[in-house]
Amino acid sequence: MDFNKILAEIAEETKYLQGKGKVANYIPALAQVDGNQFGMALLTADGELFEYGDSAVNFSLQSVSKVLTLTIAFREIGTVVWERVGREPSGNPFNSLIQLEKEKGIPRNPFINAGALVISDILCSALENPKEYLLDFVQKRAQNPLIKYDEVVAISEKEHGYLNVALANYMKSFGNIHNTPEQILDLYFNQCSLSMNCNDLVRVFSFIANRGFDSNNKERILSRSHSKRLSSLMLTCGMYDESGDFAFRVGMSGKSGVGGGIVATIPGKLTMAVWSPELNSFGNSLRGVMALELFTTKTGMSIF
Ligand code: GLN
Repeated sequence: MDFNKILAEIAEETKYLQGKGKVANYIPALAQVDGNQFGMALLTADGELFEYGDSAVNFSLQSVSKVLTLTIAFREIGTVVWERVGREPSGNPFNSLIQLEKEKGIPRNPFINAGALVISDILCSALENPKEYLLDFVQKRAQNPLIKYDEVVAISEKEHGYLNVALANYMKSFGNIHNTPEQILDLYFNQCSLSMNCNDLVRVFSFIANRGFDSNNKERILSRSHSKRLSSLMLTCGMYDESGDFAFRVGMSGKSGVGGGIVATIPGKLTMAVWSPELNSFGNSLRGVMALELFTTKTGMSIF
């Protein structure tokens, strides 16, 4: 399969979407990003890398990071995670407060903000220095020691993240947050600020496509069973309230972030990262979703 040609075709055929989405502006530092950038990277199971466009330009990982913190939580406390957070699609926006009241402070899944805050709490309890641990984990998977938290983005979100502060306090009132809201929000805003590019991203996530094994570092990150569950959650919950449509159109397990990045995998075959900062109304990259749809249509590859 000529992946270079396919990526170039995808770029061409999705150009018309440029200018039709909106860069996230509720985090002021993200509002500064040039919406015209577009990058893709594809890493096959046997380690071949293909890239296109702005694949080496760093962007803000945002909610894509929630898969990594969940991975670490799985490693630390295993299935006990499910006593604190559910695994059903939420059918609501990623930052919704509504469901939490009815469901008594137990978030629907680990990929909406409330769920990620509970995972952040689990990491704060289990690890001595969770921020350092997460950064090491990411740098090692990417084999790139230059990956950093973007302090400007983290501070910008901290200064404007009233909704996340509300979610943390609300869950604390139900006893589902054990540390202080300040501690867990500090980790959360930092994990979201992780700055990397499509090339890094495919390497970081390749252990999921490899059924839990990081072949770059020859290290098992998750058991096959946990890796299967993580991929399933990405499929059902990774794109928030657009998860069903994404599964329908794309047929890959994916996770998006409001920085405009999406990472998607076909276990046993490949990992793909797409970045285009303009978002649709669900907070997912508009051009990114279409690029992935074209990829599975053109190649005939998907998890189904
Ligand atoms: N940091 C963002 C927030 O909490 C992450 C949301 C996202 O990427 N969907 O709102």
